[in-house]
Amino acid sequence: MPRRTKIIATIGPASDSEAMIKDLAEAGADVFRINLSHGSLDLGIERFRRVRTAEAALGRAVGILVDLPGPKVRAGQMPDEGVLLEDDGIVRLVPGSGESSRAVIPVDHEGLLTDLRPGDRVTFGDGAVVAEVEDRTADALLARVTHGGLLQGRPGVHIPSERLRMATPTAHDLRLLDGFVEEGVDMVGLSFVRSAHDVRRVGTEPHPRGPMIVAKIETRAAVENLDGIIEASGAVMVARGDLGAECPIEELPLLQKRILQRCITLGRPAITATQMLESMVHAPSPTRAEASDIANAVFDGTSAVMLSGETAIGHDPVLAVATMARIAQKADEAFDHGGWTERVHRISAEREPSVDDVVTNSMTDAAWRAAVESGAAAILCITRTGFTVRSIARFRPPMKILGFSTDPRTLRQLTLSWGAQPMELSGSFGHDTLVDRAIELARHEGQVRHGDLVAVLWGSTSYPGRATDSLRLMRI
Ligand code: ATP
Ligand code: MG
Ligand code: MG
Repeated sequence: MPRRTKIIATIGPASDSEAMIKDLAEAGADVFRINLSHGSLDLGIERFRRVRTAEAALGRAVGILVDLPGPKVRAGQMPDEGVLLEDDGIVRLVPGSGESSRAVIPVDHEGLLTDLRPGDRVTFGDGAVVAEVEDRTADALLARVTHGGLLQGRPGVHIPSERLRMATPTAHDLRLLDGFVEEGVDMVGLSFVRSAHDVRRVGTEPHPRGPMIVAKIETRAAVENLDGIIEASGAVMVARGDLGAECPIEELPLLQKRILQRCITLGRPAITATQMLESMVHAPSPTRAEASDIANAVFDGTSAVMLSGETAIGHDPVLAVATMARIAQKADEAFDHGGWTERVHRISAEREPSVDDVVTNSMTDAAWRAAVESGAAAILCITRTGFTVRSIARFRPPMKILGFSTDPRTLRQLTLSWGAQPMELSGSFGHDTLVDRAIELARHEGQVRHGDLVAVLWGSTSYPGRATDSLRLMRI
């Protein structure tokens, strides 16, 4: 069985050549993330096009997640060798965007001097350095370093989100997004979401006409409004960098479990992100804790695991992806499919679904049960938008999930879905021979064999809403 948990690799200076993108995909990257917090829009678009070129050469669907920066506050550029801040030292934080030094760090937030006050904690670079504001003068904050470390590049500065009066998406985000909508972007990451309303403000055509919106859960408000955000989004990301600065660190593992479980039960993919193999930015092998972190994210039900600095600026991006792929695959093999399905059933029972959802829930549940009880070799989903695949993937069935679509964007979005193998159907959708064509293709590609029993799931064109309403068990 191929790996079920998907891998997202962030591309950056260490990995943005076409050859490297191909190598990363061959090592196991299913989706590439372009983080617009680093580099210009033009550079982002260039990277996007390079992934598309690599995709054509690879001959399989490759997803792209374009991550919008949101109202993220950043420190001024560090010198090449970085700035080492020592414990107990005092650093001046000034509003602005010039170069940083050991004594003075500009922070690109106009309200810096009014929004922060003595006693507040300021975290740099996903926790690399923590300082506490001690005093405020007319032009600077004086902060004592409570946890020293090395700062490089333009590290993010975490200010408690209830102090930051900035909305997401920002006007800058929307301009960046426009550039990528023209390119036909598949998936868009939205940073610092606080409510379902923030997700709706993106304003692109709703999915499937527009891109899939991936809400990054990294504020306390987002945790409080979780179900609404999930329902308004196509997928979510447990963005542990900022979430870990915003909430007590001991809550993070529990939040991760809760967010993943709710999101997947509601039929959306969920990503676990940040520092999964952080030590591999420099080292050739991960820490034992990192290996366990990846496996535990898989056991928590994550659809995908993500690499950030490891592949963007790391020493050996291909090795990081290959290592992650090995750990995830091994964890997939030990996954407790039965226990997971039981939890999904329990949580689903607490909700009151819409009429269409009742149809989809019943049919996908029946498909899961039929496939498990009959020992089916695969579940074949014929899907225009990917909805059917995501709905059956909720149950984490132990057999193959093949996602057939004629739409290249749907196939690319399926690269994010747990366990799903995208399969391209040629010709038009809505044709009544689709089931036969899908089976023929699955046989031709060696995915199923003569004599196999398979479950086939689809939403018929005669159903007057959006639902998966049809199931067949067939012997090939
Ligand atoms: P976000 O909050 O959106 O995740 P981030 O700053 O944490 O932003 P990541 O993409 O998670 O960025 O990458 C982690 C670290 O790797 C960054 O803080 C930065 O130091 C480095 N990095 C990542 N991408 C780039 C890039 N394209 N150029 C330079 N440095 C990068
Ligand atoms: Mg973040
Ligand atoms: Mg990050």
